[in-house]
Amino acid sequence: MDLLKERIRKQADIINADVLRVDMFLNHQIDVGLLNEIGKEFYSLFKNDGINKILTVEASGIGIACVTAQYFSVPVVFAKKGVNRNVGNEVYTSSVFSFTKSAHSVIGVSKKYLSPEDTVLIIDDFLANGSALEGLMDIVRQANATLAGAGIVIEKAFQGGGARIRASGVRVVSLAIIESMDGGKIVFG
Ligand code: 5GP
Repeated sequence: MDLLKERIRKQADIINADVLRVDMFLNHQIDVGLLNEIGKEFYSLFKNDGINKILTVEASGIGIACVTAQYFSVPVVFAKKGVNRNVGNEVYTSSVFSFTKSAHSVIGVSKKYLSPEDTVLIIDDFLANGSALEGLMDIVRQANATLAGAGIVIEKAFQGGGARIRASGVRVVSLAIIESMDGGKIVFG
């Protein structure tokens, strides 16, 4: 998506070899006009897949998922972070490792909001090593729901999560794919 790549090129900060900061339009201050274009793009990619629910994880995924959901006219469910593993049998849980925070956390979704009748599109802001996406996929599996695929805003391909998850047969579509950030230069795929 050229508009997004252009914005990354102009504004994103490379924090270190692995982390890109896009606080100025996506993760802190939000450019809703850009989000609208992102939502439209996800809709055009997945509109024929019978999606009736969008799943994401708090916090950064929520805005993107909500704008996208308006095009699909479906609800958004977001996994909560910091859920207790022993939360009881009302919640699907999965463990996720955040490399940006170097910490494991448990994400959870109430069983009330995902069921075998659902066809789910997962949305997230970044795909890096793939842990967040695999955690969400695990929750879809536990719910016996159908996974239509995943829509990612920015994938850092050099961290390998996207390749591994695609190899498992899941349709992962990323609107901007970064092949490398070596030497402070962003190279798109
Ligand atoms: P993964 O689980 O694929 O390793 O990382 C994905 C999650 O980590 C995303 O939900 C996102 O919140 C966060 N993340 C990964 N890489 C970056 C990055 O370069 N910048 C920011 N702001 N967040 C990232």
